[in-house]
Amino acid sequence: MPDISPLPPGTTIGILGGGQLGRMLSLAASRLGMRTHIYCPDPNSPAFEVTPHKTVAAYEDETALAAFANAVDVITYEFENVPAATADFLAARKPLRPGARALSVSQDRLAEKAFLSSKNIPVAPYRPVASPEELESAITDLGLPAVLKTTRLGYDGKGQRVLRDRAEAAEAFAALSPKPLVLEAFVPFSQEISVVVARSLSGEVRSYDPAENVHRNHILATSTVPAAIPPSLAKHAGLIAKAIVVALDYVGVLGVEFFVVPGESRPTLLVNEIAPRVHNSGHWTEAVCLTDQFEQHIRAILGWPLGDPARLADVVMENLVGDEVNRVPSALDGLTQPHLYGKLQTRPGRKMGHVNRLLRPDQP
Ligand code: AMP
Repeated sequence: MPDISPLPPGTTIGILGGGQLGRMLSLAASRLGMRTHIYCPDPNSPAFEVTPHKTVAAYEDETALAAFANAVDVITYEFENVPAATADFLAARKPLRPGARALSVSQDRLAEKAFLSSKNIPVAPYRPVASPEELESAITDLGLPAVLKTTRLGYDGKGQRVLRDRAEAAEAFAALSPKPLVLEAFVPFSQEISVVVARSLSGEVRSYDPAENVHRNHILATSTVPAAIPPSLAKHAGLIAKAIVVALDYVGVLGVEFFVVPGESRPTLLVNEIAPRVHNSGHWTEAVCLTDQFEQHIRAILGWPLGDPARLADVVMENLVGDEVNRVPSALDGLTQPHLYGKLQTRPGRKMGHVNRLLRPDQP
C-alpha cells in the first residue's frame, strides 16, 4: 500500500521545469506554507525568481538529480517531456507525482492514442507513419486533408503539417522530425475545448468547467468559460477527463484538449491531447475559483483533500504573447486580473503573461 498520509506545511516540493507553469506552482505552494526547489537547465528560468532553492543542471545529470532528490520531499513537473530515465531515477528516490506512466503515455502521440482508444475514449482516426510508403497507405486509408505530426516533442503547433494533396506528403515527411510520425484525419471541428481535472492521492476526482479555446498562430490566444456548448456535452467532457485520470491512477492536475465535432443530432467529442500538468487553458481558475488549478495540483501531490472547482463568474483568459505584454498596465481595468511571468526577454511567440477578464452578463 503506498503511503497516502498528507505532507505537512514546510514540506519541500521539487519541481522539474522552470517556466511560467513552474513559477505559478511555486507561488501556490508558498501560499500553503511549502518550500519549492526548482530544477531546470536554463539559468534564466522565470520560476527561479520566486524561490531561493534551485538547481541549474541537465535532466541527464545524475549527480545533480540525486542531490535534488535528497533535498526535497516530493517531486512534480511542469512539462511532459521529462526524459523517462530522469523520471525513473527520481521516482526510485522520492514520490514522483504524477507518476512516470502519465509521462510515458502523454509524451508520445501514438502511445497516447493507443491508451485512449483502449479505454474506449474517442480520438481522431490515425495511422502510425515510419516511412514514405506508410504515409502513402495512411493517406489512402484516411483521405485528405490530414494532419501529419511528430509523435514526440511537438508543442504550440510545432512538429506538424496539414496535408492538402499527395504532392505535399513527401516534403512534409522529410521536414518533420524526430520520426516516427503519425497521420491524423483532419477533424472538421466547430470548437476546441479543454477540461482541467484533478485527482487526489486518495482517489477523489474534481474537474473544472470546460474552457473554449481559440488559437492564433498555433498558440493559445483565449480561453473562455463557459464554453458555448450544451450542458450535456460539458458533462460528458468532464466524465471523459475523469475516466482518463482514473485509468492512469493519476495524482495531480491534468489537462484534456478536445475537438467538438458537429453531428446530425448532436455534437460529439474527440480527445486531441492530454497534458500531465497544470494547463494554459486553466489559468482562468485563478480569477474565479476558490481553489485554482495551481493550488489544486499542489494539494493533490501533498496528499491533501482537493478544493472546490466551482466557477464563481464568467471569464475570459487572454494570453499575452510577445509584445502584447506591453498592454499591461494601461489596458487594465477593475475587472481584469493580470499575471506576468517576469521573463527578461520579450520575443515574438513567447508567452509573457496572461490576463483574466471577468465577463459581466452584458459583455460578449
Ligand atoms: P496539437 O499540437 O495536436 O494540439 O495541434 C495544434 C492545433 O492544430 C490544434 O489545437 C488544432 O487547432 C489543430 N489540429 C491538430 N490536429 C488536428 C486535426 N486532426 N484536425 C484538425 N485540426 C487539427
